Amino acid sequence: MYNKIDFSKIDLTAEPPAEEPARQYYYIAKCRQYVKSASERLGRTLTSTVVTFGCQMNARDSEKLAGILECVGYQMSDCEEADLVIYNTCTVRDNANQRVYGRLGVLHGFKKKNPHMKIALCGCMMQEESVIEKLRKSYRFIDLIFGTHNIFKFAELLCTMFESGRTVIDIWKDTDKIVEDLPVERKYPFKSGINIMFGCNNFCSYCIVPYVRGRERSRSPEDIVKEIKTLAADGVVEIMLLGQNVNSYGKNLEKPTSFAGLLKEAEKIDGIERIRFMTSHPKDLSDELIEAMKHSEKICRHLHLPLQSGSTRILQAMNRRYTKEQYLSLAEKIRKEIPDIAITTDIIVGFPGETMEDIEETIDVVKKVRFDNAFTFIYSKRTGTPAASMPDQVPEEIVKEGFDKLLKTVQDTARNQVARWQGQTLPALVEEQNAQDNTLLTGRLSNNTIVHFPGDASLIGRIVHVRLKECHGFYYMGEAVETPKF
Ligand code: SF4
Repeated sequence: MYNKIDFSKIDLTAEPPAEEPARQYYYIAKCRQYVKSASERLGRTLTSTVVTFGCQMNARDSEKLAGILECVGYQMSDCEEADLVIYNTCTVRDNANQRVYGRLGVLHGFKKKNPHMKIALCGCMMQEESVIEKLRKSYRFIDLIFGTHNIFKFAELLCTMFESGRTVIDIWKDTDKIVEDLPVERKYPFKSGINIMFGCNNFCSYCIVPYVRGRERSRSPEDIVKEIKTLAADGVVEIMLLGQNVNSYGKNLEKPTSFAGLLKEAEKIDGIERIRFMTSHPKDLSDELIEAMKHSEKICRHLHLPLQSGSTRILQAMNRRYTKEQYLSLAEKIRKEIPDIAITTDIIVGFPGETMEDIEETIDVVKKVRFDNAFTFIYSKRTGTPAASMPDQVPEEIVKEGFDKLLKTVQDTARNQVARWQGQTLPALVEEQNAQDNTLLTGRLSNNTIVHFPGDASLIGRIVHVRLKECHGFYYMGEAVETPKF
């Protein structure tokens, strides 16, 4: 494991190893020298910040980048005037791209004041050719650009950046490589994401992810279990297994295995109290998984099951490969088998060709499934996806009318769903002190609902039984009824 490596003992006069992760350890050692000598020149410690846009997968990638940066000698900070700023970008919606361009202008201003400053960009947006062209032409102050497939060689790229003094651009079109045992700097000491697979094979017609993250690749169950055991030994009590479509985990392994099988293995690990996962594609959600969840003491009572649309006609155009009826019967089965589960979802409004009747179908599903929460998005056209060239892009007034109506239904059903726990006492993992009032703690229930209650910071990272006194729409105010033993 990397934390047993003494980087100062690596022989930098030798050729870099060809094998991973030894090759990256070599470059970490080399980067340490560059950072050390720059620190000595400037008479201060160099600082770095990683800014994450987008999803949980990116958040986990950012922890890996931060892990390398700490190893090479940067002090991590939240300030974008740091000596090295990395934007880990998202491209799922166009406004995510626009935000990055906007903020790059601000970074350029900081760089003019601090000529030692380095700016790096990575993540999904970098996998788009048009983005790279634009950056090459109009954002020449950027020092390092890399993509999603070669993030494992961040240390090597950093080294090239230090040595070359020019902009380094390295984008891979795809990869089948998964490199284990690289440094990670977790944001929370008590909970952690774990990538179980990368990429996606589904090609939903609106989605750019398969083009920027590549085809599905699962990590071996042995590597995942080993990582979870290490995390448990390090004090982690809650894990979140991450993949674009966790329900198809293991299908492409040499010895195929199922996601439910992996969950059962994770469940056996001492010290792990809670297991979450994200994201489930409805078409691949198996009875085996429902059974595993039903009988588990550790798998959280929360399932995020993206619906996207309740109209079978639109679902077909989206290439989702389930119908309205199939989704409804799946949700019904889940609610019947696991009555205390919270089901949340994602919904897109304004997909090409969508009419008010289609949106009414979606509203019908929201009412029938009674989602505990739903993330509603206006369709964003992504160049290169089949939906981008579909006729009948939806007029703005229909999108607005449909979106508002849908949102109101979601809020009503979610409020009623969350209110069902009123008066109960449930275990909450304490995540942090409340940002507005530091006499309050913020905890998360197994069903993902947030509860604020009086308590002191020593409880952060512990599971506390909390009585849910008042429901405030999407969260509760409560009181601790039992504090854990230390
Ligand atoms: S399942 Fe569909 S929406 Fe999800 S990442 Fe894959 S292509 Fe995109």
